[in-house]
Amino acid sequence: MTDSLTGRVALVTGGSKGIGKAVALALAEAGADVAICARKMAGLEPVADAVRATGRRAFATVCDVTDAEQVNRLPTVVNEALGPIDILVNNAGASESHKFVGHPDDLWARMLEINLTGVYRVCKAVVPGMIERKWGRIITIASISSKVGARYVAAYTASKHGVLGLTRALAVELNPYQITVNAICPGYVDTPMTDANVANMVARTGKPEDEIRRIISSGNPQGRLIAPEEVAAVAVMLAGEAARGITAQAINVDGGTLTY
Ligand code: NDP
Repeated sequence: MTDSLTGRVALVTGGSKGIGKAVALALAEAGADVAICARKMAGLEPVADAVRATGRRAFATVCDVTDAEQVNRLPTVVNEALGPIDILVNNAGASESHKFVGHPDDLWARMLEINLTGVYRVCKAVVPGMIERKWGRIITIASISSKVGARYVAAYTASKHGVLGLTRALAVELNPYQITVNAICPGYVDTPMTDANVANMVARTGKPEDEIRRIISSGNPQGRLIAPEEVAAVAVMLAGEAARGITAQAINVDGGTLTY
């Protein structure tokens, strides 16, 4: 199905590294023109260049998904550069942890703001154009934390459960317009976010880095971290015409960590 996305325009939030970067490149390789955003321009330029190297058009713009004004401008700036957004990948996110006793209120607010309200905000800006054109794909990078609880991540877990609720509600509401809305739920993925989480765990526990990596890898029955490209492959599948019957789903990419 190479080139199945030819003629489509995709927007990937948080497209400068990790999963977002892999998704941007995979969508381009499948034929889409790709817009990417993040808070810092420096990381976006090399990804835009890599998209152009596939022969597709690319557009990089600074946008913080927690800033409503910047988000509201996104559809217009992407439209001027590449055309209307057909495929939205809500990937920008953050993960911080804290035990619940003494949980900082600002950490709670930060996690909900970026992982849940940020997705709501970008969807709200992009969906009217999709409804007008009666076609769209919304793919949110959620988490296995959208389905299960774990210690020390109350805020992240609540935000990721919330984004799955948003996904399901939008899927039902937007079904009449040929817009599908799905979530991808990865386990631990080998990205800069996981590097930062590992560094935190090293600092907190005093355990060596290789032991922490072994512990988090062992949470996956395949004994490894997921590669960003594995998540990207599912996003490409969901973005295609052949996936028009798949909506309101939460697809795990976790090596079988969860069995539902
Ligand atoms: P990374 O931290 O490696 O990359 C995050 C990306 O998002 C960067 O491009 C970053 O760029 C951007 N970003 C961060 N904050 C904002 C913001 N406020 N507005 C716009 N862009 C922002 O993360 P991952 O690739 O690991 O994770 C991507 C998504 O996948 C997240 O939603 C995460 O929760 C989810 N996920 C990750 C897992 C993992 O193990 N890594 C597992 C399950 C889910 P900049 O800093 O310049 O803004």
